[in-house]
Amino acid sequence: MRLEILGTRGNVSSSAPGHTRHAGVLIDGAILLDLGQMSYLRRRPRLVFVTHLHPDHAAFLLTHRAPLADIYLPERCSIVPTAKVITRPIQIGEHVIAPVPTIHATNARSLGYIVRRGRRRVFYSSDMISIDRRYHRRLGRLDLVVTDGSFMRRGGLVRRDPTSGQRFGHAGIPDLVPFFRRFTRRILVTHFGSWFNRDVLGASRRIEALSDDRVTVTAARDGMRIEL
Ligand SMILES: [Zn+2]
Ligand SMILES: [Zn+2]
Repeated sequence: MRLEILGTRGNVSSSAPGHTRHAGVLIDGAILLDLGQMSYLRRRPRLVFVTHLHPDHAAFLLTHRAPLADIYLPERCSIVPTAKVITRPIQIGEHVIAPVPTIHATNARSLGYIVRRGRRRVFYSSDMISIDRRYHRRLGRLDLVVTDGSFMRRGGLVRRDPTSGQRFGHAGIPDLVPFFRRFTRRILVTHFGSWFNRDVLGASRRIEALSDDRVTVTAARDGMRIEL
C-alpha cells in the first residue's frame, strides 16, 4: 500500500514551509481521505471519503461548489446532494474502506477510516478526542495510524456542550499516542496547529520523542510518501 500525505495543516491561519495544505491522504493513487483542498481532485481519485464536514477537510464548504467526484460523507450535505452517506464498509477493487465513528464535534458527525488492502491495514482519524470503546475491536491490528496533531499539550482542547453535555475538540498528541499504541507500532501525526508552525524542527523532535521501543511516532509533511 502506498500513502501520500497531501496536506498537514490544521484548521489554522498560520502555516509553515511543507505544511501549507489542509487535510488529505491519497492511498494507492485511488482513494482520497479528506478533501481539504479542491486541487486534490486533480489527482483523479476513484473515490473520496470525507471524515467530517469542517472546511479544512471538506473544501467545498467554502467554494460552495460540488466536487466532480464520487464522494462519501458521514452525513448529508446540501452542497453535494449526489454524495453518498457512508454507513458500512465499501469495497473498490482491492481496497476495503470501513468507517469508525470518532468523537470530535457537536456540529458535525465525524468518522475515521480503516483502509485495507490484502493484509495491510491503515487507520486515518483526522480530528478527534477519542473513539468509543465499542468500536475498538473494529480497529484491530493496524500497520499505521495517521492522526490529529492540533495540540501538543496533554488534554488538547476539549470543551463540553452545555445543553447536550457532549464533548468536542481535540485530544493532545500525548493523549493520542497512548490511545493508539495498543493497535499499532507506527503513528504518523498530521493536521498541525499553530504551535507546530512556530518551530517546525523543534515540534517534529518533540513528536518523535514520544516514540519508544514499541511504537514509532513521527510528524508528517505535505507530500510525504509512505510504502507499507
Ligand atoms: Zn480539522
Ligand atoms: Zn474538525
